[in-house]
Amino acid sequence: MEARPGAAVPSRSPTKRTRRHRLFGEVPLLPGPGASGLSGPAWTYDPDYRPDLPAGAVRGDPRRQLFCCEVPRYFYVDADRTCRDCGAPFVFSAREQKHWYETLGFRLDAAAVRCLSCRRVYRRDRGIARALADASRALAEAPLHPPAVLAYARAAVAHAERFGHAPLDGAIAALRALLRHAPAAVEAVYLEGRCAEAAGRPRRAAASYEKFLAVAPARGNAALARDARARLDDLAPRAS
Ligand SMILES: [Zn+2]
Repeated sequence: MEARPGAAVPSRSPTKRTRRHRLFGEVPLLPGPGASGLSGPAWTYDPDYRPDLPAGAVRGDPRRQLFCCEVPRYFYVDADRTCRDCGAPFVFSAREQKHWYETLGFRLDAAAVRCLSCRRVYRRDRGIARALADASRALAEAPLHPPAVLAYARAAVAHAERFGHAPLDGAIAALRALLRHAPAAVEAVYLEGRCAEAAGRPRRAAASYEKFLAVAPARGNAALARDARARLDDLAPRAS
């Protein structure tokens, strides 16, 4: 039977040092260079220590963890937490922790602060913001390159729809410059409509969708044409 958490247990030999931990019991220390960079005698936590597993715990592998001053996770147990965004209680499960610290390579002082659904929203939001930043950089490098302009306009629309703001006027200017340079890039006409719609200009948007339906070859534009028609129907009451 290993040490109960919190119980005082004498070291097995005078030369063997241990440090007590509330979960892992008496953790053996090995002489060795500490990661702290401090001079003097240094000790590291024995990566091969294998305390008994409590019920429901998942064995940890310290050799796969990034730790310096913290005690390695010899095992993981479910942790009750409160979501930072929605305030709901959630469980940061033992398996999830192992995945974070041993597969994804997160530092041991990182911990889940959001519940799963808020984490999904957070990641998606971050993705939308990052897509706009990336598209903006790509556009600056190639302002008349059709894929760069179209990607920028799409990213601006997505950002505006999620966060209520985006450089929509800049996107519209880039689309118009592209159309002067490459009139065949008809998706730019459709996206001008999307930008105007996101900017709260329904009449402007309807005009762009109508123009798109008039100029876009049917071939290769079916999905956009369907969407433009549906949006025109939705806009009709507001654009008239
Ligand atoms: Zn939440």
